[in-house]
Amino acid sequence: MYNKANIFAKIIKKEIPCKMVYEDEHTLIFHDINPSAPIHLLAIPKGEFRSFEDFVQKASTDQILSFFASIQKITDKLKINKSGYRLITNHGKDAMQTVEHFHIHIIAGKALGPLITADTHHAIK
Ligand code: 5GP
Repeated sequence: MYNKANIFAKIIKKEIPCKMVYEDEHTLIFHDINPSAPIHLLAIPKGEFRSFEDFVQKASTDQILSFFASIQKITDKLKINKSGYRLITNHGKDAMQTVEHFHIHIIAGKALGPLITADTHHAIK
């Protein structure tokens, strides 16, 4: 079940502030409060979606298209499509999702290194 009191729901309702980069009827993009790189943004859809699974199953095609197009608009505006960027979304416990509102991390601004460090990587056999 979607928890209406999660922190990103409050950001959408403007009950708590954020450093906003982009907003339209479907999407909000803002700075992560605890950045992992020089550029670390969070893109969230407006609507009650707990994670990627929920979003893909319940959002309309228009909303899904518009959400990803907005992310691309911002990567283009920030010119990180030239230098490179990483999109990450965490779903559930193993991925350590901490906020239960679907979000995509947009991470850029330096060489980001490997996706998962050697000591945490255990291949599935
Ligand atoms: P997750 O671990 O769920 O994939 O990512 C949640 C992200 O939300 C974290 O990177 C964390 O720093 C960020 N975050 C948590 N609370 C807030 C907040 O109140 N404002 C902003 N801007 N980011 C937050």
